[in-house]
Amino acid sequence: PPLYKQRYQFVKDLVGKYKPKKVADLGCADCTLLWMLKFYNCIEVLAGLDICASVMKEKMHRLYPLPADYLQPSERSLTVTLHHGSVAHEDPCMLGFDLVTCIELIEHLEESELEKFPEVVFGFMAPTMVVISTPNSEFNPLLPGVTVFRHQDHKFEWDRAQFQSWALDAAKRYGYSVEFTGVGNPPTGMEDVGFCTQIAVFVKKYPQTSEPAQSKKPTEAAYKTVTVYPS
Ligand code: SAM
Repeated sequence: PPLYKQRYQFVKDLVGKYKPKKVADLGCADCTLLWMLKFYNCIEVLAGLDICASVMKEKMHRLYPLPADYLQPSERSLTVTLHHGSVAHEDPCMLGFDLVTCIELIEHLEESELEKFPEVVFGFMAPTMVVISTPNSEFNPLLPGVTVFRHQDHKFEWDRAQFQSWALDAAKRYGYSVEFTGVGNPPTGMEDVGFCTQIAVFVKKYPQTSEPAQSKKPTEAAYKTVTVYPS
């Protein structure tokens, strides 16, 4: 299967395994991953965030209930919310999540945004689990036609050592453990380059130590809510 499907499958497998109730997808683009996650019965709250409102709205109708959902209302309640904003900003709507996914997001961040990202995601949002995927630059020589970056909007592409040292530093600073894996196997004989997409899975070390220091967390919204279901 194509690489993007393998990335979505990776997240779907994690959801199937850990059964999170509240999942947020940061840099959700056209909401494809959110749409796939909608079919997991463990999920009660789905939230998306993107800096580009138009791409987020393009296919967001897919998130709305199907006629069958009205005819045969199920036991579970599902709330879907889409927000227009940046991962460089803190908004209380992102508090209390079990899983936060950032699929092919960080390499699109400006230096100043990337600098704020760990504090926002791990320090402020502080979900139980975080998944971050990004290209592994060591794989690039195997990709036809890739000279500098895989996409012109990428601000950087890291090798495994760079990604792992960044992730380990964030994990240490904010009390997470982290494990590295990936999707997109290298061809036989080229195993040394690693996966095409590298993935870090972070798990909070001390979950639910009473109420987190919620008092110091801002209550003011920084994102613009684009859509909510049910309204
Ligand atoms: N996660 C999706 C996927 O895997 O198919 C889309 C990844 S797309 C390559 C990167 C997305 O990140 C774009 O939709 C872009 O608008 C969004 N993005 C870039 N900078 C952002 C920021 N500072 N805050 C939130 N989203 C951002």
